[in-house]
Formats: sequence, structure tokens, C-alpha cells
Amino acid sequence: MSLILDRSTPGMPRIAAVRCDRCKAVIHDPINLGEVLHIRLHAGFGSAWGDGSLVSADLCDACGHALLQPFATVEPDHDALRGPVVTGGFAREMAALRAWLDAPADTDDTAGPGDSKRPESGAG
Ligand SMILES: [Zn+2]
Repeated sequence: MSLILDRSTPGMPRIAAVRCDRCKAVIHDPINLGEVLHIRLHAGFGSAWGDGSLVSADLCDACGHALLQPFATVEPDHDALRGPVVTGGFAREMAALRAWLDAPADTDDTAGPGDSKRPESGAG
């Protein structure tokens, strides 16, 4: 995982930058962060990744394009490329990811001082 988090605000970590897992470029610019391809999956039974493996990759725009272009379907949609739409979607996805990152795992031995625990969700 190559997210570089800013934890200067207690309880509100935010994505400060992303390091591309392929070319190692560090992306800080908010517009360019919107172009980063984030892959997160929990491999299921029989997966080539291995049963139960957590797989992640963050790819800059150039690397995502280089790796996926031969297989991707690309359709021009100028409305979908407007900044607020891309930024908002990225922010929501990263907020969900932040919650996942900050949640204590069953075998979590990596929590550091000041790390918050996920609040109890729902009743029961
Ligand atoms: Zn890259």
C-alpha cells in the first residue's frame, strides 16, 4: 500500500500523497491524485492471488495506462472529467479506505500511539 497519510489532525487522517507502486513517483497534486488508479481486493477461494489475500496497488496515471490500455474500454465523457466529480469521488473512496485502515484488525499489532479505533457500528 502506497498511501502517504497526513495524521496531523487527530482522528482525521487524510491522503497527502500516493507513491506509484510501479514507477515509485510520488503524487501530491490534488488533480493528479484524482487520476491515480487504486486497486484493493480481498481474494476469494481459488483466486490466483491466494485464498483470503488482501491485494492492493496504487498506480499513477501513466503506469495505469501503460498496464491496462491494451485491455481497457475507453469512452470519451467530458462531463465525467470535471474536477469536482473526480475529486469528490476520490475523497469518498479515500474516506472509506481510511476507515478500513484505521479499524483494528483481529491480529492488529501495528497500531501506534494516537491511532483511533473504529467506533462500534450499529447495535449488537
Ligand atoms: Zn507510475
